[in-house]
Amino acid sequence: MSSSHASLRAPVLPPDEVTALLAPDGPISAYFSQFEMREAQYKMLERIVEAFNDKQISLIEAGTGTGKSLAYLIPSLLWAHKTNERVVISTNTIPLQEQLLHKDIPRLIKALNLPIKAALMKGMNNFLCLRKLHESLSELSFYPSTDAEEIHRIEGWKSDTHCNGERASLPFTCSSGTWDKVGAESDTCNKMQCPYYQECYYFQMRKRAQDAKIVIVNHHLLFADMVLKASSKDSTGILPPYSRLILDEAHNIEDTATDYFASRISQLDIVRLLARLTTEKGGREHGKLIVLKQRILEKYKDKIPHELKPIYNRLTFDLPGLRQDVLTQTRHLFEALFNFSQTMVSKQQKKERESPHSEQKLRLHAADYSVHAWTQGIHPLIKILSEALHRFGASLIGIVADINLLKDLSFQETVAGTLCEIEGLSQRIQALADETLSFITLPPTHQSARWIELQAFKTMINTALVDAKLDIADLLASFFSQIPTVILCSATLTTNGQFSFIRKRLGLTPEKLKERTIKEYDYPSPFNYPKQAFLGIIKDLPQPNESAFNGEAAQAIFRLIEASRGSAFVLFTSYSMMTECFQAIKDSLLARHYNLSKQGDADRHQLIKRFVSTERSVLFGTDSFWEGIDIVGEALRCVIIVKLPFRMPSDPIIEARSEAILANGEDPFMTYSLPQAIVKFKQGFGRLIRHKNDRGCVICLDNRLVTKRYGVQFLNSLPPCQKVHDSLDAIIEQMNQFYRSTYHLTKQ
Ligand code: SF4
Repeated sequence: MSSSHASLRAPVLPPDEVTALLAPDGPISAYFSQFEMREAQYKMLERIVEAFNDKQISLIEAGTGTGKSLAYLIPSLLWAHKTNERVVISTNTIPLQEQLLHKDIPRLIKALNLPIKAALMKGMNNFLCLRKLHESLSELSFYPSTDAEEIHRIEGWKSDTHCNGERASLPFTCSSGTWDKVGAESDTCNKMQCPYYQECYYFQMRKRAQDAKIVIVNHHLLFADMVLKASSKDSTGILPPYSRLILDEAHNIEDTATDYFASRISQLDIVRLLARLTTEKGGREHGKLIVLKQRILEKYKDKIPHELKPIYNRLTFDLPGLRQDVLTQTRHLFEALFNFSQTMVSKQQKKERESPHSEQKLRLHAADYSVHAWTQGIHPLIKILSEALHRFGASLIGIVADINLLKDLSFQETVAGTLCEIEGLSQRIQALADETLSFITLPPTHQSARWIELQAFKTMINTALVDAKLDIADLLASFFSQIPTVILCSATLTTNGQFSFIRKRLGLTPEKLKERTIKEYDYPSPFNYPKQAFLGIIKDLPQPNESAFNGEAAQAIFRLIEASRGSAFVLFTSYSMMTECFQAIKDSLLARHYNLSKQGDADRHQLIKRFVSTERSVLFGTDSFWEGIDIVGEALRCVIIVKLPFRMPSDPIIEARSEAILANGEDPFMTYSLPQAIVKFKQGFGRLIRHKNDRGCVICLDNRLVTKRYGVQFLNSLPPCQKVHDSLDAIIEQMNQFYRSTYHLTKQ
């Protein structure tokens, strides 16, 4: 009865009216230059309209060039306009957010003539805190000169009428130590009690989002909001209420959620946190506790009132001792963890291990918690550090409470901002104490992976303890179940033509979402891949696990770069191999006047900018360079994939997930490692053709693509292009032919 009523009711978005907007003489073509009707886009739009009208969850793979942003933006805008409900669009990368906010949405608003507002929301720490800036300016004499100089520059930037308070738009790279002094943070924010509340950049951004019906966020902020709304602490969350959710770049969701929900304590984080209270630099002490002491001396000179004396004494004698205790115990614990990890390395060295030199992860098992080195070494040290943190945090909270009880209002006013920050930091220290303790009270379980992480910096190795959830499917399913419409889209959701992998990993199964309709659609790219792309698989290189592979691969990369005359991406699966290959051929490439960039030389954005703006560019990259980069035209005409992008089986989270899958009676390679690698491979391949006039070669040096049975699943997941498996010489010959025969495309 109710369903027949529902079907009789006119849909909010009449499908014919909405799809008519894409007609050649329709409003979209008038406002989008070079717009052409694409069948896949038309169908995708139809399906999204249906998902909005019928409260569905839809997974949509839309190949490059489908125009998926318009296909989801049109119904989102119309829905928001007709129902007054808010639509949230979550992405993984900043470039996509900017394209939506500054290009696609404004043009659509004009084309459809809709009075709709859109806003981009970012995390709080991206914004300047005016109160902290004001305080920092009054504390400059307490700061090292480099920090003081940066704060002056931030003040100058803030005075500019165009300043939006976002760290990303600062005209210089600000050190993290300085940003700690001026960046907005939830636990040091006085919210409505803050004298700068009305002009606060962060709260203005939230206000704009309240007024907007389309809100753009990243996946991280989406999860932060989800957790806050589920907690009793702040059920209003960060994002304003919404009823429809679009997740673009949805293939990244499991990784982002795993990272977001992981628990982590690191030596560097503790030292940085303490440094905000007191640190020594240039032979002087700095930090909020030093500022507080100086404020007492400035106000009372040597006549400190009787009731303030004990506080001053605690600041002078007790707190430095407690802080030193935390630092000493931190050092002891993390040194012990480092040594413990090294004994594990020697135990595990027989296993296949290829961590990048800059990072090592060593998994902790429940059995490790009963070995002598843990029970007698690490366990007591974690406990001692947790207690030291608790003592220090409690003492700080005591100081703040005692100052607030004083009757000297003018003094309280002078130090209000400093106290607010000390209070916020002390709460963070207390939370850290609890988190530290949880690493011994709760040994590793089957639901999580725990590991020691070693990260090499120029002058130190940072050691961390990490615990990450194995399965986030239940969490996500419960989140998705509460939202009437959820659209998950990406150019890479399927593997071997199936959605089963992503559906299982994200909890989008009929068992977990019993009440919901879940649909899936796969729209191929409209580009002419057989004409535009050539895939070469080299057959005469050693197998990737043979010791000769790296050396021969480096020489092959040199020859392939010569064949494409640069304009090449070289994509690796490990940092160490990237560095080794780069060193091996760097001089030969420089002698041939190539402009070389390597991941780590500058930030990703600068590297890509340099790559696009120079001739004969070559970029060597790993992980994040496989996706989210959109280079159109001749600037990129060759992508070299050195190895199939399987994640390290010894990576703790991969290993633990594989064990859990095996325990469940399934094959972890076929159901987890392989589909994950295929998604990444498709992303790497997808860097090449971004426009209908693009052309180029993808060359894979890993011939498992044809020699292994599973290779066909990689190949079946790619668009139908020319594929050749041959010797390096023959592939180079065919590349030359391909570039000659497709030259005309570059002139269109
Ligand atoms: S409201 Fe919070 S973030 Fe904004 S200026 Fe004040 S303290 Fe800083």
